[in-house]
Amino acid sequence: MEKSLPLLTIVVPCYNEQEVLNETIRQLTLKLDELISDEMISDKSKLLLVDDGSKDLTWTLISKGCALNKYVTGLKLARNVGHQTALLAGLRRALIKSDCVISIDADLQDDISVIREFLIKYHEGYQIVYGVRSSRKTDTHFKRLTAQGFYKLMNKLGINLVYNHADYRLMSKRVLVELNHYQEENLFLRGIIPMIGFKTTKVMYERKVRHAGETKYPLKKMLSFAFDGVTSFSVTPIRFITFLGFFLFFLGGIAGMYALIQKFIGNTNAGWASLMISIWLLGGLQLMGIGIIGEYIGRVFMEVKRRPKYAVDIDLYTDKDPLKHLSQPPTTAIPEYKKQMKR
Ligand code: UDP
Ligand code: MG
Repeated sequence: MEKSLPLLTIVVPCYNEQEVLNETIRQLTLKLDELISDEMISDKSKLLLVDDGSKDLTWTLISKGCALNKYVTGLKLARNVGHQTALLAGLRRALIKSDCVISIDADLQDDISVIREFLIKYHEGYQIVYGVRSSRKTDTHFKRLTAQGFYKLMNKLGINLVYNHADYRLMSKRVLVELNHYQEENLFLRGIIPMIGFKTTKVMYERKVRHAGETKYPLKKMLSFAFDGVTSFSVTPIRFITFLGFFLFFLGGIAGMYALIQKFIGNTNAGWASLMISIWLLGGLQLMGIGIIGEYIGRVFMEVKRRPKYAVDIDLYTDKDPLKHLSQPPTTAIPEYKKQMKR
């Protein structure tokens, strides 16, 4: 029986994940073994671990994994660029060799047993399969509340997000090719992928607690993630300011008429308090407006620069020599490169 099986690459962004990485590799390897023996994927399928500038032993574990495990391959970024960008770096690499890609976090919170369902859907012709959490029982109260607030806010602003879907999903090569055309600086994958289109579906799963280690998303990162999500998709904040401006203008007209009437009646002495209040109110509003407009101008500024989002330090996936285009050696060169350079 001759049929070509799809080559699957599982992309895992890893930032300081030394506590959990070996277990993640072990479980995903077992999963790949199982799927290959069930003839759901090609035996050339891979597990691509992207080291997002970790400061611990994450890269050592990845390179060891590459040496010992035929599925494991790695990509080391030159510095920490954040989850979304690290994931994008992995997806762009994976695109080179894969027919479909599954992205998953390193901490085993997402139930890997639904990978099989992802693939069944893929074989049925779906191009994007979203993993959707059926509940948030395992999250802390705080995380649950902030996350829910985030989805609500995004919805109100007209940004199409898949509710309770993180970055656990399958995408086919066609989707990845389209994704590659989105060249924006503030890349918010969860918002962009629903924009791409194609035949999509969802698979439900229970989200578990982190297998080991701590969350790499402290409140500060979460807030900046939410802010990026809003401002890179929506001009609603600007519209809101404009609307507020019109509204205040209208109120100002009424207040002016009122003041005139008071003047003709002869009660003009008692205007100090309202004057002070309006000066402060308007001053504050203007600053707020300028701040928000400035934010968007800042974004335009960042976009027009067209800076690369990340740099690859070591690429074990495509085996391309990352030094070929460089005039200087990388700071963390692996021994073979050092040897070559001495010659
Ligand atoms: N991550 C990353 N770069 C970062 C922060 C996180 O690559 O700067 C990775 C991390 O290793 C993990 C995934 O993104 O695989 C999700 O992070 P985490 O599980 O800490 O987030 P949470 O599940 O708590 O939202
Ligand atoms: Mg997690």
